[in-house]
Amino acid sequence: MDDISVLVDELYEEIVDLRRDFHTYPELGFQEFRTSEKVEAYLQTLGLETSRVATTGVVATLSGDDDHGPVLLMRADMDALPVEEDTGLPFSSAHKGVMHACGHDGHMAMMLTAAKILSGKTDRFKGKIKFVFQPNEEIAGAQIMINQGVLENPNVDAAMGVHLWSPIPTGRIGIRSGAVTASMDVFKVRINGKGGHTGYPDSAIDPVVCAAQIITQAQTIQTRFISPMKPIALMFGRVSGGSKGNIIPESVELEGTIRYLYSTSPGEKDYPTDAFKKMVNSVCATYGCSADISIDHENDAVVNDLHMTSIAYDTASGLVGKNMVVEHQSMACEDFAAFGEHVPAVFAFIGTASNEARSTYPHHNSRFTIDESSLAIGVKYLVSAALSYFIDRDAH
Ligand SMILES: [Zn+2]
Ligand SMILES: [Zn+2]
Repeated sequence: MDDISVLVDELYEEIVDLRRDFHTYPELGFQEFRTSEKVEAYLQTLGLETSRVATTGVVATLSGDDDHGPVLLMRADMDALPVEEDTGLPFSSAHKGVMHACGHDGHMAMMLTAAKILSGKTDRFKGKIKFVFQPNEEIAGAQIMINQGVLENPNVDAAMGVHLWSPIPTGRIGIRSGAVTASMDVFKVRINGKGGHTGYPDSAIDPVVCAAQIITQAQTIQTRFISPMKPIALMFGRVSGGSKGNIIPESVELEGTIRYLYSTSPGEKDYPTDAFKKMVNSVCATYGCSADISIDHENDAVVNDLHMTSIAYDTASGLVGKNMVVEHQSMACEDFAAFGEHVPAVFAFIGTASNEARSTYPHHNSRFTIDESSLAIGVKYLVSAALSYFIDRDAH
């Protein structure tokens, strides 16, 4: 075992204590007041100066003994979710209706410990590490930190982030280049027809049959309009309309999400939301209906930089073995994407599923928990990947 593994194993109890404390006192996005005070206090005990960005966000920069070199940003997210915890764990949430159901409690514990270890290794890197504790990941908090200057002073050259991930077993790490989380557009469509009597359908304009056609036809957008090699999930989560079985309603509302695992934008040939709008309008025209469509673009895909990915991949293989590094992509969204749009970045998934730890529930589930032994793997990965980044930069 190298010295980093020894240090992490010595600190294991502290990592677990940190995680459990964050877990007991979860706070929603931009309300991470207790959380940010605890993060600040911890970083200050390491001799680091802290500053606030985006109200509850905390930033601290660690300089190498020789600080002439690149600046690496390392990010941990801080927010919990509006979920009532049902894990029965002794350190369950003390805040009713709020829960760390995504693992961000573990991310903070890992990053604080990584900061502690790296603080004792300033002779091992030339440059600076900017630790960023980010609020409100679940609703795009990263962009607000960027707007408030988190990538400047000192200017950031590259970024790293991780997520504890229950779809992957403990001991494995998910890494690949390219898109690893989805871009997402949220749509609301109102299909307007003309209400009437179900005994006289020809004298009405039926928005129900039109909606049914849209729901099924939209599934052909991938393959017929966009390459089958480009993953898309076009899902309807809400369908509503009508008041009674014998009345044709005036309108039907459809709501859903379009997720796609690649980068594109409106107007480009492979932008699925343009194809969706076109299809809604043409199906409506067939049935004599009209459509009001509103689209919100909520997230961009996290796109891992090829070179940063190779650093991360080599680090992870050294840590858990080549056969335990898996290619992983997810249709979930992650606002770390915002950092990757400005600097080369890599985002890795630290496997945390174990039957023994009962940590196989999906993220955001009221029974979600992590396998705490994966916290040690996460810290080893963060410390080693950071040092590898500087060694790699030194060699170039
Ligand atoms: Zn989440
Ligand atoms: Zn998350």
